[in-house]
Order: sequence, then structure tokens, then C-alpha cells
Amino acid sequence: MPKGRRPPRAPARKVAGASAEISQLLLLSNSRAADGTYLTWARGEIQAFLGAPRSRVLFIPYAAVPGTRDAYDAYGQRVRAAFDDMGYHLVSVHEAADPVQAVRAAAALVIGGGNTFHLLTRLYAAGLLEVIAECVRSGTPYIGWSAGSVVACPTISTTNDMPIIAPPSLRALGLVQFQINAHYTDVHPLGHQGETRAERIAEFLRLQPAVTVVGLREGSLLHVAGSEVRLWGTGARIFRAGEPVAEWTQHAGVRLQSPSGQLSEGRAHNCERSSKARFS
Ligand code: ASP
Repeated sequence: MPKGRRPPRAPARKVAGASAEISQLLLLSNSRAADGTYLTWARGEIQAFLGAPRSRVLFIPYAAVPGTRDAYDAYGQRVRAAFDDMGYHLVSVHEAADPVQAVRAAAALVIGGGNTFHLLTRLYAAGLLEVIAECVRSGTPYIGWSAGSVVACPTISTTNDMPIIAPPSLRALGLVQFQINAHYTDVHPLGHQGETRAERIAEFLRLQPAVTVVGLREGSLLHVAGSEVRLWGTGARIFRAGEPVAEWTQHAGVRLQSPSGQLSEGRAHNCERSSKARFS
């Protein structure tokens, strides 16, 4: 194999014959690239993750402010065009008569960025938190970017957003065992007196010393498969209380999840995909 080329990976799928399914997530820092193109930088990774062209990919646009039908329509159209281009037919949950059923029937779930507080508030209001968590833990692939990546974490405490609306709790989907800070940057304008991103994360760790925070740089993503987390792209920083901040590159392994946290226990059969092969 030529140097620098990675071996092909199997698409996200339930593990046949295993006693339970593993969670499969693709968590992107951002959607738009510096050149303005939408989701193109991660196109190859998204296709490798989802596998063969398919329908029933469900998009959740709830991070779009102000949360009107128009805002969701516009967001849904933009994301649908990007996924159509990759060979996947996507529908938006705001078009579904029964959002809970739409999640259960989805072949894959996609949660886009925007305002993280708005996203979480709307997920609570629609009663979707538990059902999304249940489906992903039983094998439904999950793609998120920005706020959609943060909401996959135990809480949304490491978002960069302003709390423009108050969700019932900061508790989020808890699909991974660490926190993400999306759009991570070390850039700090000369003379700017506000906290750096690293300082804000350090403050979080003062109160939450048991938690690991991944500062995910633009153009980076995490591929989570059960307890394994692979970094792809420009890089990330790992923040842990009492440890020096570590640079993470895509060639180095970092242990972020314990195997015990990878599976749901005893609730793997409420999603349609659990009973039939989704990837043919
Ligand atoms: N507002 C960001 C996004 O969804 C999330 C963040 O910066 O934490 O793009």
C-alpha cells in the first residue's frame, strides 16, 4: 500500500453475531470549509462511514435559529443537497408527522450545527433524547457536526455558544464518554482580554476534573466505534485535569472511552434497524 494511504474501512454497521451492537459515530468539528464549500472536506469520510448509497437518512435541524419552519426548511434543503451529492437521500425530522417514529425508522441520523442550546432545548421538547440515544446505542450510525457533535457528549457544557434559550438540563445524549469543544482554535488576537479557548476549557476542568475534553480543530473529525476513537484531519488537543495539554494527531492513538461505556444494556430492540440488515 502506498505510504500515507490508509487501508479501506468497513462502513458503519452493526456487528453481526455480537451479543450487542456498538455505537458508531462520526463527529465533525465543522460543516463549511474555509473555501466556503459545504461538507465537502469530510465527504470521503462520510461515504466510508455510511457505506453504499441509501435512503432513510434522517436529519435533525433543531440547531437552526430561530427554529421556525422556514429556518428548518432552508437548513434541511442545504444538507439534503450535500447528501444527495454523496448518494444518500435525506429527509428532515421537522417534515415527519411523528418525529419519534422517524428516528426509530432511520437508517442513519444526522444532527447539524447552529446554536447548541437551541438544539438541546428542541430535542427535549420533541422528546427525542432518549430515543436517539437508544437507537445509536443499538447500532444506528450517527453523524454530527459542531453543535451536533457537542450534543453527542454527556453534557453541552463545552459548547462555544451563548445560552440564548434554556434547555431543561445541560445533560445531552451521552453517546461518548468525553466532551468536545468544536471549532477549537488557539488563535487569540493580540490585546484581546477575553479568555482563550484553552482557558475556558481549563475552567471547566476545575469543576469537572474527571472529564476529558477534546478540542477538535476545524477540518477534523472523530470516528467512534464502540470504545475506539479515531481522529481524522488537522488535529485536536486533549485536555485533562492535572495533565499537560496534549496534541493529538491522526497517527497517534488516544484512549478516550472505556469498553464498559460502549453499549446500551437491555434496550437494543426498539429501533427498526435492529431487526433487519440496514447495509446491503
Ligand atoms: N455554534 C457552533 C456550531 O454549531 C457550536 C460551537 O461552537 O460550540 O457551529
